[in-house]
Amino acid sequence: MVHAPPRPPAGAPPVRINLYSDTQTRPTAAMKEAMMRAEVGDEQYGDDPTVHALCDRMAALLGKEAAVFLPSGTMCNVIAIRTHCRHGDEVLAHETAHILASEGGTHASLSGVQIHPLRGERGMFTEEALRAAIRHRSRYSPPQRLLEVEQTANIGGGAVWPQARLEALVGVAREQGWATHMDGARLMNAVVASGIPAAEMVAGFDSVWLDFTKGLGAPLGAVLAGSAEFIDKAWHWKQRLGGSMRQAGICAAACLYALDHNVERLAEDHANARAFARGLRQIPGMTVEEPDTNLVFFDPSGAGVASGALVAALRLEGVQVSSLGGRLRACFHLDVTAAMVEESLGLIRAITARA
Ligand SMILES: *Cc1c(COP(=O)(O)O)cnc(C)c1O
Repeated sequence: MVHAPPRPPAGAPPVRINLYSDTQTRPTAAMKEAMMRAEVGDEQYGDDPTVHALCDRMAALLGKEAAVFLPSGTMCNVIAIRTHCRHGDEVLAHETAHILASEGGTHASLSGVQIHPLRGERGMFTEEALRAAIRHRSRYSPPQRLLEVEQTANIGGGAVWPQARLEALVGVAREQGWATHMDGARLMNAVVASGIPAAEMVAGFDSVWLDFTKGLGAPLGAVLAGSAEFIDKAWHWKQRLGGSMRQAGICAAACLYALDHNVERLAEDHANARAFARGLRQIPGMTVEEPDTNLVFFDPSGAGVASGALVAALRLEGVQVSSLGGRLRACFHLDVTAAMVEESLGLIRAITARA
């Protein structure tokens, strides 16, 4: 079964402390209450008032003309890339970008694009690296069409792009006649961490989306925003891909609830991530990346425990972290309290001390 996530080891207790991913938050009773009360209609027919309310609010939040509600962030990327590009075009993105590494090759398969992988620290590249990737226009070169950035940069450690750098990159794209797309899966984490309003942060981007199933805690849903013309075209792809829904207001209500209740509190997740990083750093030999937001990447091998062994030992204690190419990732979200941070640190200290 190469296509399924790993099963827990036999005899493992249920997960009590889930640091695996912010996607695994459960909708709270209050969120479900809001879903139950939602006014609904036929979304595909343009008739669901709660979906309209969500899209209007998101367009305003992101400073764009229009927005469309989609089932997942991946579908936002698929539709945005399909809308911006033609077959044979090239998209410029970081080599660790979700569109390149974690979407099953969909952009090659469905949009016929190739992705030019850019290098750079913490999932981000510089203006110089982007300029160095500009191709001389000739009959030999693939037409470069789209610049893509991820905010926050997930595999980069949840890093927040310096705003001046984003603006410089957008400047290069404009100069070259490229479109610009932001994968804003964790955009609100970047907004809360930097204090820069969302609309200002994404002003230079032709399209941007935000996921409601990460730190915002909704069971499903993402919203893609852009110009009215872009969203009109995006709707056509939503229909073609089977992403048009019916009484989707029940899910949009969870997203509206998340906007009202779960954005400012992301600061608590960031504080928990910093406390976790601080605690880890006190363990001799542990390598820890300083978190900008809610993700902490660390490597315990210098502390005498291989990363796989630490994952397994923690899982037997009911604590789950993820392993991404040898680095471990702990993710802080709505279902993780400060007490759980302390308890996890205590367990890691004990496991490394035994080693
Ligand atoms: C989770 C994630 C996605 C995909 O979102 P889904 O809602 O899981 O489809 C895309 N990009 C980044 C950076 C992500 O973290």
